[in-house]
Amino acid sequence: MHGRGLHVGGGGAVRRVAALAVLLVAGAPLALPWPRAWPVDRGHAPGSAVQARQPAVPAAPAAGPEAASVAGAEAASVAGAEAALAADLVARVDAARVLHDVARLSGETTLCAAQRCADVVNRLTGSDDLALAMAYVAEQAAAAGFRVARHEWSSGRWADHNVLARRTGVLSPTELVYVVAHVDGVAGIPSCPGERCPAADDNASGAAAVLELARVLADVPLARSLVLFFSTGEEQGMLGVKAYVNQRTAEELAAIHALVNLDMVGYDGNGDRVMELYHEDHAPSLALARDMRDAVERAGLPLVPRLNPGCG
Ligand SMILES: [Zn+2]
Repeated sequence: MHGRGLHVGGGGAVRRVAALAVLLVAGAPLALPWPRAWPVDRGHAPGSAVQARQPAVPAAPAAGPEAASVAGAEAASVAGAEAALAADLVARVDAARVLHDVARLSGETTLCAAQRCADVVNRLTGSDDLALAMAYVAEQAAAAGFRVARHEWSSGRWADHNVLARRTGVLSPTELVYVVAHVDGVAGIPSCPGERCPAADDNASGAAAVLELARVLADVPLARSLVLFFSTGEEQGMLGVKAYVNQRTAEELAAIHALVNLDMVGYDGNGDRVMELYHEDHAPSLALARDMRDAVERAGLPLVPRLNPGCG
């Protein structure tokens, strides 16, 4: 997708998936009306839990020493409010809850949704187990206050549905921020030849991170409208996402302010804590990647963001 698209992969052991959710909400340019529109009144002393940084956009040029002093104080206030909000959101992330979601979606524990329970064998597109997993993400997003809708698609011999979970922004409701994760997984391939194929990292991890994002933001006002996009058919060539995009008008696509895709965010084989931020080769996407990197640093997360051109 064009515009401010970004693909996030890597990042660490499953419990650090939670940090990625915070990374998303700590990204000021994405969806939050912070710092000014959401005053810090949640019991945190500004800057108490994370290092405050200067805001990315400096205050208006000062006209003299007095104006510079005022601008400096305002900048410090903004930075403090940002830091306090980031700390508040970080504190809301429940790593155990994320891990439970990964276990349920990957068949380690029993998954229940839509009055049905099963141990997921795999999440192949079109399968009953993937339908159960999609019902689960829809129920969880709805419980977090999102308006949930199904988007049916078919392509060749494949057919399934995406789940879209929406909340409306309060400042710029016509500008959309998409956060995407595919819920489907592979099965019957050389690396996973049998029926049983957990696909825990690819991509129960991303789906679980987006669900946690929904919960963390449950009572947080958003500047822009947010769309959590749980897709299917990804492993057959991003079929679900492609069908959705192909059905959008030019105006609908132009309303997309930013898009972040989470894929394979739960495994860090060499323990280097590197989080790959794959950006497209143009300025808006690169700017988004830099914003995300800055958000990680601002929130003091134990991750090493690395920017890469391409899709990963
Ligand atoms: Zn994937």
